[in-house]
Amino acid sequence: MKDLRLETKCIQAGYVPTNGQSRLLPIVQSTTFKYDSSEEMGKLFDLEAEGYFYTRLQNPTSDWVAQKICALEGGTAAMLTSSGQAANFYAVFNLCQAGDHVVSSSTVYGGTYNLFAVTMKKMGISFTFVDPDCSDEELEAAFQPNTKAVFGETIANPALVILDIERFAKAAHAHGVPLIVDNTFATPINCRPFEWGADIVTHSTTKYMDGHDATVGGCIVDSGNFDWQAHADKFPGLTTPDDSYHGITYAERFGKEGAYITKATAQLMRDLGSTPAPMNAYLLNLGLETLALRMERHCQNAQKVAEFLNSHEKIAWVNYAGLEGNKYYERAKKYMPNGTCGVISFGVKGGRKAAEAFMAKLERIIIATHVADARTCILHPASSTHRQMTDTELVAAGVGPDLVRLSVGIEHVDDIIADLAQALESI
Ligand SMILES: *Cc1c(COP(=O)(O)O)cnc(C)c1O
Repeated sequence: MKDLRLETKCIQAGYVPTNGQSRLLPIVQSTTFKYDSSEEMGKLFDLEAEGYFYTRLQNPTSDWVAQKICALEGGTAAMLTSSGQAANFYAVFNLCQAGDHVVSSSTVYGGTYNLFAVTMKKMGISFTFVDPDCSDEELEAAFQPNTKAVFGETIANPALVILDIERFAKAAHAHGVPLIVDNTFATPINCRPFEWGADIVTHSTTKYMDGHDATVGGCIVDSGNFDWQAHADKFPGLTTPDDSYHGITYAERFGKEGAYITKATAQLMRDLGSTPAPMNAYLLNLGLETLALRMERHCQNAQKVAEFLNSHEKIAWVNYAGLEGNKYYERAKKYMPNGTCGVISFGVKGGRKAAEAFMAKLERIIIATHVADARTCILHPASSTHRQMTDTELVAAGVGPDLVRLSVGIEHVDDIIADLAQALESI
């Protein structure tokens, strides 16, 4: 699989049928699995043999899909989770316990920010949020002796900030900790963070990977590059015996390539159980088969829509990294030479009122909180998701009252532009 191109991996990686088996990914709906003897089953519980015993921990359908995403990212091991939130929680919690600390980009997805700043804080894990474009000195100053990981998003949702992955990886490694990158918006089709030094990648598969509004899901992929043993004192969960698993030391038994995901499965999934339904994994796999095709079209369409908006007299500003002159144009070219994603943000002249009036006139573009799937959709945060905030608070949060977020789909671009044009015409 390693040498195959991304388009081929989208179709062929993961489940590979042998003689006479189902051509399409089978849905193994079973919660449980049968063994001939207790001894054989015991080997599974001791992690001495590979196999399945209970779907809360692992299921063949989900694992085949995880293997496909693993191949796309160029990792060594992967697991699916029931949501992107679960993926980011597990990715961090697999390395941290009460008293530990994480450095995170401040422009992460709102749900991730809450998870870190509110919920995980209650668990005794603290976070320092840094502007992803901060100086090297500021980044350096964010680290503490108890720091266990660095976290950022390839393309931040919704700020559309592009992370300088190499710089963040270098800083993390200088402190003996891994860089975790949420690669949801770019997808491995447009960016593979492992090639730039990231150690662990997470996804909300709910977005482009599924791509059809059909399933909520997540994924964690390990690059297999981070040497846990070399920083053994920082990661006792991986480098000392796990008493809840008969004294297994994950880093010793499974090496750099397998320790992290094995621990996340055997320990976190066992105890917390955020496992995807096999049917959802099956639906995700259908989405993945066309991911390369769809991403190409999303980017082509978004580029044309961004250019249209940028030259429109009623538009105040447009934020899209594919536009020359955008703050992230050069960085996007480096990390994502084939395009970034389909999400654009812009402001309508006349602010909040004009944005509301414009959106009310749209005919085919639907208003939805969702982003990053086949259907073009639009959101005015100031009058929906962020409506409890004053204009001053909105500006502070980086979501000005005039900001409109447009997720460009894969319809014909002329129809998308025509709808935008007629709505702008009428205000
Ligand atoms: C949506 C999203 C999440 C959360 O994923 P869910 O599947 O909704 O739980 C995490 N990170 C990013 C970048 C997202 O866009």
